[in-house]
Amino acid sequence: NFAKMYWNDFWEYWTPVTMISVGVIVFILEGFVGLKAEYGRYNKKKNGLPAPIAWLIQECPSFFVPLFLIFYNNAKFFDENKRINTNLILLILYMVHYFNRSFIYTSRIRSKNVVNYLENFLAFIFCGVNGYQIGHYHTKFVANSLLEWNFILGCLIFLAGFYINVDSDNRLIRLRKESNGTGYKIPRGGMFEYVSAANYFGECLEWFGFAVASWSLPALAFGWFTLANTGPRGYHHHLFYKEKFGSDYPKNRKALIPFLI
Ligand code: NDP
Repeated sequence: NFAKMYWNDFWEYWTPVTMISVGVIVFILEGFVGLKAEYGRYNKKKNGLPAPIAWLIQECPSFFVPLFLIFYNNAKFFDENKRINTNLILLILYMVHYFNRSFIYTSRIRSKNVVNYLENFLAFIFCGVNGYQIGHYHTKFVANSLLEWNFILGCLIFLAGFYINVDSDNRLIRLRKESNGTGYKIPRGGMFEYVSAANYFGECLEWFGFAVASWSLPALAFGWFTLANTGPRGYHHHLFYKEKFGSDYPKNRKALIPFLI
């Protein structure tokens, strides 16, 4: 029992606390020191795997690890009193996102850029660890009411974020096709009318909503890490467009959060 307690503490407390701390470091390095993750437009060295393969490898643990845990922990939708397990609903939302990111998104992007091997490896580890902490927590039976305010509000925010993220991904995929594999155009339409990094804005909303619905430390840690990672990168994208397109770039467009930043 001591081992079990230690195991639970490890995934439910120490892993998210570590993730929050690493997120602070990432935020400082990317936001203030100016470091940029070496993939996409910032991979100057051009060493690494082609983007579609790299993204498939690095993201799929976040789909397969929770899937494994659902079976391993024998997670159930209902208990004997027919109470529903809201945790499992959230886990399925998480896996739908990662099914799209690992298998659908990667079959559609036409990026000719590569993802640096180290970045690729670190992202793979991150997705495995995060898949485990989210899966471990959400395969436990928690019979919250579907009508809890935080569950409803969080799911609505998640779904809005998911829509914005996929819509923005689609717009960028179209732009990448039009510009024939390389080169960058001004993204238009959808939330791009408000922010330069509309895909990241949608992603942040998703995991912020997920944290509200789950009300757990692992979900909060992932939400914060997403913001710490994509926020500064979105800001760099904004500066990149302003420098590249000058006065042609829409003046009122913000970087990540509509009307604010
Ligand atoms: P980017 O916006 O940098 O690129 C997305 C794709 O669109 C790439 O294939 C890119 O090509 C292409 N593209 C981007 N801008 C343009 C443009 N102006 N003109 C033409 N093509 C363009 O996003 P990321 O690659 O960083 O992220 C991909 C997805 O993963 C997003 O939905 C994001 O939210 C998510 N993500 C989630 C993270 C998390 O922590 N949860 C972390 C990082 C990403 P190219 O490769 O050639 O630049």
